[in-house]
Order: sequence, then C-alpha cells, then structure tokens
Amino acid sequence: MSEPIRIVLCGANGRMGRAVAAAVEKDGRFSIAAGVDRSGAFASPERLPELLKTADVLVDFSSAGPALSFIEAAAAAGVPAVSGTTGFDESRRKCLETLSGRIPLLVAANMSLGMNLLYHLAARAAAALPSYDAAVSETHHALKKDSPSGSALRLIDAVKAARRDGRPVGAASLRVGDVVGDHTLVLAGPGERIELTHRAQSREVFARGALEAALWIRGRKAGLYSMADVLDIPAA
Ligand code: NAD
Repeated sequence: MSEPIRIVLCGANGRMGRAVAAAVEKDGRFSIAAGVDRSGAFASPERLPELLKTADVLVDFSSAGPALSFIEAAAAAGVPAVSGTTGFDESRRKCLETLSGRIPLLVAANMSLGMNLLYHLAARAAAALPSYDAAVSETHHALKKDSPSGSALRLIDAVKAARRDGRPVGAASLRVGDVVGDHTLVLAGPGERIELTHRAQSREVFARGALEAALWIRGRKAGLYSMADVLDIPAA
C-alpha cells in the first residue's frame, strides 16, 4: 500500500476538525501530520509554514478570515489545499481565486458527495420539466442561524440556472432538534410530483467528502476546483 496522505488539519479542535480526525482514524489512506487551532492542544497557526514542509495537503474547516491566511500559507509552501469553510465574502473569494493561480485549491461549502450530486440532478430534472413548479425545503438543527441554508440557496440557483426563465423557486425551512441537514427539491406538475431528497445523517459525510477531495487534489495543476470536479460531473 502507498504511503498515507499527510494532512495538516486547520480548525482541528472544531466540530468538523474532530469529524475529519475521526474519519482519518478509520481510513489508512490518510494520516494527520499536524492539527492547527487557536484552542485545545493543537499547534498554533504561526507554526503553519514549518508544519507544511512535511504535509501533502492542507484541509481547513475554520472560519473565513483565518481560512484565507491558512490557504495563503499553503500557497507559499506550494501545498494543495481543501477548504470546507463557509462565509467567504466577495473580496475573500477574489483572494481565493488569486491563490488558486499558485496551488490546486478546492473550496466547497458542502463537502457531501451526495449533496453535490443532488445539485447536478436538480439542474437536470428542472431543465427536463421546465413547466413544473419548483420549490426547495430544508430541515436543520435548532441552533442553525442562517435560513434558508447555503445548500438550499445553491439548489435554488442550480434550478434557476438550468431554466433561465426567471420563474421563482419556492423555499421553506424548518429548525428542529439535532437534524444534521435534509434538503428536498420538489417539481410539481399537473397530477404528479417528483421529490429529490438528500439527508445528511452525521458530520461524517462532510469529513469523508473532504478526504475524497484531499485524495483527488494531489498532483493536480494549480486552479480553483469544486466537488463537481471530484465527482467528475458538470458544475451545477
Ligand atoms: P467550529 O466553530 O466547531 O470549529 C472551528 C474551529 O476553528 C474552532 O476550533 C476554532 O478554534 C478554529 N479557529 C477559528 N479561528 C481560528 C484562528 N484564527 N486560528 C486557529 N483556529 C481557529 O465550527 P465547525 O462546525 O467545525 O465549522 C467550521 C467551518 O466549516 C464553518 O465555516 C462551517 O460553516 C463549515 N462547515 C462546512 C461544511 C462543508 O461540508 N463544507 C460542513 C460543516 C461545516
């Protein structure tokens, strides 16, 4: 078996950082070279340049400001990076684009393989049934603040981009219990309806998606990539 891919994990003490570390434990293709966080018993971000010298990929789940500086450090070290952090504003997105001129960089607000496939299927279905009404419903845990979720907005955009007729796409959100994340696209026409649903049952799906992305990105040329590239499907 080939050597495990050495990951420097940024945001290692967070919910997602811990989920990635747990997924690595179960998967011999990867090892954690170092965990970086400002809290817990992890290396401080100042040590990143040194830590990246023995890393194959940087994986980041932190927050938008620090994530950008972690990716800058990866670019300086010539190490590919995968970031699942959300909330990059326009100016940070531009910086990410610039950095992707130096290293392969994959950024995805939802790392689940299934959810990324759903974007693609939603676009195909909406284009095939242009006269049907379209609406997206989503359910998340009670602590989630944004609504509709970023993934629901992305699903709505995929439908709108596929149709290009300016028709509205409905949206409904529920915040209850500890639901990790359910998303459904409904297409309804006379006498029938189609429902395409994705349910994330644990954070593990996002962690496993990030690991698949880390595996995929090694050896790629510099550029900005998405999970659609990992799945080898058109971006929706
Ligand atoms: P969290 O708050 O539990 O963890 C974030 C971690 O980053 C914390 O341990 C924190 O100490 C660390 N951190 C923040 N600023 C830092 C800094 N300046 N230096 C070093 N460490 C720093 O959050 P989470 O639930 O793990 O989510 C992290 C990010 O991932 C969020 O942006 C979230 O929206 C996103 N997320 C993405 C996906 C996906 O599939 N792409 C899935 C879940 C969450």
